[in-house]
Amino acid sequence: MKTEVVQGWPQGHEIRILISDTNASQVNAIRRALIADVPKLAITRVDFSQGVTQDNKGEIVESVNVLPDEVLAHRLAMIPIPTNQDEGLVFPDVCQNCMDVVEKDKGCPMCQVLYTLSARGPASDAEEEFKTVYAGDITTISDPVFDILDEHKQIPLTVLAKGQFLEFYAFAVLGRGRDHAKWSPAAAVGFQPQNIAVLNKPKKASVLFDLGLTTTDGKPIDAKLFGKDKKLTDINHVMDLEKALHQVGPGTGREGDFDDAITLEPVANAYVFSFETDGSLDPVTAFNMALDELKTRFDNLGEDLASALA
Ligand SMILES: [Zn+2]
Repeated sequence: MKTEVVQGWPQGHEIRILISDTNASQVNAIRRALIADVPKLAITRVDFSQGVTQDNKGEIVESVNVLPDEVLAHRLAMIPIPTNQDEGLVFPDVCQNCMDVVEKDKGCPMCQVLYTLSARGPASDAEEEFKTVYAGDITTISDPVFDILDEHKQIPLTVLAKGQFLEFYAFAVLGRGRDHAKWSPAAAVGFQPQNIAVLNKPKKASVLFDLGLTTTDGKPIDAKLFGKDKKLTDINHVMDLEKALHQVGPGTGREGDFDDAITLEPVANAYVFSFETDGSLDPVTAFNMALDELKTRFDNLGEDLASALA
């Protein structure tokens, strides 16, 4: 199997990877490993402060807000937590310090990341009635490498009215997507056979070319996109063209005139693999981790087989 990042990617947290010398079941195994097996951090426990208290100006505030604690805990779980592999965090169930202690004492700096938030609604004499609490209001107690990323600070958590406060400690641990979706690092994971496009009938292809469509990088979709051999091999352009072909496909009323002027031909044993991470891992790292997960599994399987046959 060969892998290669398609030119122009990654873009943000999205990536396209060309996987060749392979077959659909191998590529699908990578897809499943990426969704279910690659570990990442997510908030899994929240301790809310509850009750009525008085602030330093003598105002009474109460720990109620528009969302039940369970819903808020779920919202916190879905915030992408930067998962830095170099920090050497371990899973709670294999942590040396926590393995043998009772459930309520589990959790130490080796296996969890600690966050806190303290917010209150507008003061009683304030003009605004409500205040929105954002992911950006969360403070990291552990290492700053785990700070919520700038791009995620705008995620709204809840709304507080006058006289309300919200205070909690939140604990993030490593987990895998197969146990809960909050630990799944990637979304929209898919793959398709790699195609090349062939310009069979340049004159009839004008039905498509005259529509004035462009590729995602702004090039006009016309005969110039194809090489001298009337073939288009650039992966991004072929995928753009595939979408454009829907404008002249069955049911458009143009398919007769177009008459298969451009056709797509699959490249043998090659697939374009694409996905987007939630930002907790960069896409290249996530992909490599998926391959590592598979490798470990098959190594173990090999050992098991060897011992079974011995
Ligand atoms: Zn621990």
